Amino acid sequence: MFWILILTLLALSLFAAFRALPLLTWTLGMAAVLVFFAIFTKVSATAVTVLGVLFAGLAVVLNYKPVRRRWVSAPFLAMYRKMLPTLSATERIALEAGTVGWEGELFAGNPNWDNLLEQPWPELSEAEKAFIDGPVEALCEMLDPWKNAHELAGLPPEVWQFLKEHKFFGMIIPVEYGGLGFSALAHRAVLQKISAVCAIAGSTVAVPNSLGPAELLVHYGTQEQKDHFLPRLAKGEDIPCFGLTGPTAGSDATSIPDTGIVCKGKYEGKEVVGLRLNFDKRYITLAPVATIVGLAFRMYDPEGLLGGKTDIGISLALVPRDTPGMEIGKHHFPLNVPFPNGPVRGKNVFVPLDALVGGVDQAGHGWRMLIEVLSVGRAITLPSCSTGGIKLAALATGAYARIRKQFNLPIGRFEGVEEALARLAANTYATSALSRMTASAVDMGDKPAVPSAIAKCHATESARKVSSDAMDVHGGKGIIMGPRNYLGRSWQGIPIWITVEGANILTRSMMIFGQGAIRCHPYVLNEMSAARMEDRVRGLEEFDRHLFGHIGYTIGNAVRSMLLGLSFGGFATVPSDRKTARYYRKLTRYSAALAFASDVAMLVLGGKLKYKEKISGRLGDVLSQLYICSAMLKRFEMQGRPAADQPILAWAFHDAIYKMQTALAGVVDNFPNKAIGSLLSIIIFPLGRIERQPGDRLGHKVAQLLLSPSETRRRLTNGIFVPQSAANPVGLLELALPRVIAAEPVERRILKALGKGELDQMNWRRQLAEAQSKSIISAAEAKELKAVRAMVAEIIAVDEFDIEVLRMGKSKRSKTAKSEAA
Ligand SMILES: Cc1cc2nc3c(=O)[nH]c(=O)nc-3n(C[C@H](O)[C@H](O)[C@H](O)COP(=O)(O)OP(=O)(O)OC[C@H]3O[C@@H](n4cnc5c(N)ncnc54)[C@H](O)[C@@H]3O)c2cc1C
Repeated sequence: MFWILILTLLALSLFAAFRALPLLTWTLGMAAVLVFFAIFTKVSATAVTVLGVLFAGLAVVLNYKPVRRRWVSAPFLAMYRKMLPTLSATERIALEAGTVGWEGELFAGNPNWDNLLEQPWPELSEAEKAFIDGPVEALCEMLDPWKNAHELAGLPPEVWQFLKEHKFFGMIIPVEYGGLGFSALAHRAVLQKISAVCAIAGSTVAVPNSLGPAELLVHYGTQEQKDHFLPRLAKGEDIPCFGLTGPTAGSDATSIPDTGIVCKGKYEGKEVVGLRLNFDKRYITLAPVATIVGLAFRMYDPEGLLGGKTDIGISLALVPRDTPGMEIGKHHFPLNVPFPNGPVRGKNVFVPLDALVGGVDQAGHGWRMLIEVLSVGRAITLPSCSTGGIKLAALATGAYARIRKQFNLPIGRFEGVEEALARLAANTYATSALSRMTASAVDMGDKPAVPSAIAKCHATESARKVSSDAMDVHGGKGIIMGPRNYLGRSWQGIPIWITVEGANILTRSMMIFGQGAIRCHPYVLNEMSAARMEDRVRGLEEFDRHLFGHIGYTIGNAVRSMLLGLSFGGFATVPSDRKTARYYRKLTRYSAALAFASDVAMLVLGGKLKYKEKISGRLGDVLSQLYICSAMLKRFEMQGRPAADQPILAWAFHDAIYKMQTALAGVVDNFPNKAIGSLLSIIIFPLGRIERQPGDRLGHKVAQLLLSPSETRRRLTNGIFVPQSAANPVGLLELALPRVIAAEPVERRILKALGKGELDQMNWRRQLAEAQSKSIISAAEAKELKAVRAMVAEIIAVDEFDIEVLRMGKSKRSKTAKSEAA
């Protein structure tokens, strides 16, 4: 009977932890069980008394706050203060920027899936649809990616004119300032479509609509600045760029050495208080063509002209190109994608204080402005451009794999190629869902700091993988550059996307988990604030409250993690749909595991976790994959659960779950404290590491979905520009695909006849005539086959050039590059 009592107490505790019941409820429940056993069972009185006394002691310490604070929270707080990572002002701003949405539930270990499914699924407005079907489609028709990149090294004047006329640079500028005032979803749709056609045009449109003068002015500009600049920016009368990065300050952007000294100077003939700017920026997109340069610099007021402190901090200003002292450098050449990009330098450039974004009031708040704006911009620009490129690669690769034959079979039928196609389809599905969900979050009013880092990092990484797979499937066709190559240049350019707006290694290993752990955790930020409170008594009270919430939360997640691991997620409360319930269960399980592992990592490693990037990167991977899976499920539900898409969802889902297991396994196997790592392993993987990569049969089904036109293939690749012209290599692929498929039975008949020795001709044209004469194929079939084979010949053709065309001329290292080195 004693052991039954112990087991009952244990079961009650596990239940309370699993359901996150309040401490008092657990205490009363335990007391009731003890009383019940003492009165109604024959359990030994001594045993009950000993247990009762022990329990009473524990209950008092845990529930009676003065005792709890004195004996538990106060010593812990003293220890905590020593462990607390030192945060610079800029780090604190970064951590506090943005809002927390669905990712908060995923991080906290017990997501309520109804909340995800009930979230709105915004759609494009009629005006936005009309813009995408009208000017965007017309722009795509105008673009000639080979000519733009190889012959012109930029966009021709008529394209620039078209972009300005149709306000492509004013998508995020409100209508009242002459912009288009588009939603994030529309912004995404435009970039997705353009980028898939021409990366130069994609970058040119992306930058003015991303982190830069317009976005900064909309949020922080003074009324005069908005009135002056926004209409000009919307119409393209001013072309903006924004310079943060310099030779010594790349990822560590807050270390910029550029300065703005408050001083008196002459401006338009009058002496005014202004800023003397000295700066050296590089890699600045649109700088070579910009008329207005946004700059980040550190502002000082040594003479006290503003009456405050000397070191004011990072500030932002808008400086016209023609300001004396400003030097717009030459062009950089980013990976064979020659969009306008180059250095900007300035020596003693004097501007009035009005040049400060937001005026003097916003002086010193530059970093906060950039981070806040970045939390939105990062959710849209690169995820949308990546999605466009990925969709095009999926569409073209599927068609090519069906059209291109080797060993008398479409290459897409070979298992090796199928592997690449399955990955490609699943990555397309996942990335598109991720990019849409993050853009939708912006439209719902969020500033999704963590999801935008996830989206930036994983969409661009996915583009890298998809692009490599697409290149592999195309073989030499992808490698030979020329107008017929629709893949090679974007494959080259993908590291640009990987690097800009926070290079991916840093984003993955520092930002996603670093921000996530503090922003999404229900207690950590509160504990940190309490520990930093100057009023020590209130600080202790607050800390005690959050600490005990935190302890319950950690125990709950440990129990949930283990029980969900043992039950294959069976104890989780999930939407009860036959097809997808098991997905939600698995995600709930890994969400609990992430929450528990994160807490243990933070508790054991404290401030050192900041430098343990291999651990935090892996934890960030789990959060990212949970978010991506949520986006896929939301997409599946919102598209009406199309059964035909199920294999792609299943493949992408199993792949993501396997990645989560790999990441968590990496955390436990490499945990700096081996004993704790082993304990974590038992709790997170009570039945071992049972997840498997998606199976071959599933991979086969997914790959085949890319090889012929279908609703699934259309849904997977919708929103990109597919020209209805055989003169365009992608248009030709799409026009040829149904005809190639229809001709396959005829081709098989000819092959069979050849196998039987019924055809003697060697040349394929004569062979067709012979087959027709011997009634193996009809006249109409012969005619169609001829046309199809001509199309195929064009599809598999590659370009050739005279060597003179390939000579780029003598390269001269620019003077500025030399002076940089000096
Ligand atoms: C084509 C192009 C266009 C650009 N456009 C603009 C623009 O318009 N305006 C602008 O201001 N900037 C622009 N940039 C700059 C871009 O934002 C930076 O290149 C980027 O922030 C990385 O800086 P870096 O290249 O100096 O790399 P580095 O900072 O030298 O980093 C090199 C590598 O180290 C990694 N790393 C660095 N620190 C850490 C860390 N603590 N933990 C883990 N990994 C770390 C990085 O992730 C990266 O992989 C552009 C860059 C390019 C290439």
